[in-house]
Amino acid sequence: MVSSNYRDLNVPGRILLGPGPSMVPPRVLAALSQPPVGYLDPYFSEIMDETQALLRYLFRTENEVTFPISGTGTAGMEAAIANFVEPGDRVLAAISGYFGERLAEIAGRYGAQVVRLERPWGEVFTPRDFENALTAGDFKLVTLVHGETSTGAVQTRVAEIAEVVHRHGALLVLDTVASLGGIPVEVDAWNVDICYSGSQKCISAPPGMAPFTVGPRAMEAFEMRKTPVANWYLDIAGLRRYWNAEQKSYHHTAPINLVYALREALRLIVEEGIENRWARHRFVSELLWQGLIDLGLPPRVPEESRMISLTAAALPGGLDEAVVRRRLLEDYNVEVAGGFGPLAGKIWRIGVMGYSCRRENVTLLLAALKELLP
Ligand SMILES: *Cc1c(COP(=O)(O)O)cnc(C)c1O
Repeated sequence: MVSSNYRDLNVPGRILLGPGPSMVPPRVLAALSQPPVGYLDPYFSEIMDETQALLRYLFRTENEVTFPISGTGTAGMEAAIANFVEPGDRVLAAISGYFGERLAEIAGRYGAQVVRLERPWGEVFTPRDFENALTAGDFKLVTLVHGETSTGAVQTRVAEIAEVVHRHGALLVLDTVASLGGIPVEVDAWNVDICYSGSQKCISAPPGMAPFTVGPRAMEAFEMRKTPVANWYLDIAGLRRYWNAEQKSYHHTAPINLVYALREALRLIVEEGIENRWARHRFVSELLWQGLIDLGLPPRVPEESRMISLTAAALPGGLDEAVVRRRLLEDYNVEVAGGFGPLAGKIWRIGVMGYSCRRENVTLLLAALKELLP
């Protein structure tokens, strides 16, 4: 039964230290509440152009095709596959966690012949892994997750992997949903062909936009497609005409306010400076790691491949972790996440992303855990 007296929205002021969304700074919330204008309003057109320039700064790229896709990070995943895979194409999917698995599944749904390159959850890949897998021949696309949010491992050596991928005539898709804006991502220097992210993790805008960029090699492959892109909404040909700097033509109604908010979050990143932002994430995460070690919940991933924006804390056997997490949320307003798949019950996933990545939040979390842990 619908009621006319549902209470007013009174959102609890959570300290978000999970795998995303992260906390949103006041300036971004203020931008979000500005009135919408039309999707082809000349004012909005300027906002769009500025957003694209800001995204190029963040991705460290000069790629012309750089814009936010309407939808969360998963829309970025889907766009990366839908635009570059035709039925029957061979895709090599590197899988060592949940999001690598999801990319493989999406590729399969677009008719790709998916070959799985697997490592246990939490491990990362070497260039040699790709060398061996790609000699089997004739791959169109390789998918790789930069920061695996399900495990807390970060894929290093992306530039070397891209070199191997290109030598075998394939394109590299890199998922940076949980890393872009928190730890170094270098689209041009690493030669990544297709890269996407999500607005609500290290960028600290509300969820709903997926920054997306495509390099010249991938655009060439795109122009050579024989079949239309099977997903109309995410077809970059239409999206490009809308985000075009000279002349914009309607594709779909952009989520106007989410673009305002993303632009403001990106402006904050430029004001801070991307290198300073990376340094802040490292500094705060190191405090977190030391505190977790002192509490007997050490990071599960060795330091050389440990993700900075998300830490998997190894839990002691016998801990009723769900109870502690619920008390953390109810008594301290702090959110962290549990593990899933093979890591269910074995880890907590603690994110220090964007505006959540502040020393006072980590201090609160560690103090609360000290009180809550048996
Ligand atoms: C969160 C995440 C996604 C999915 O993004 P949504 O915004 O939840 O759709 C994809 N890849 C990685 C690595 C993520 O952390």
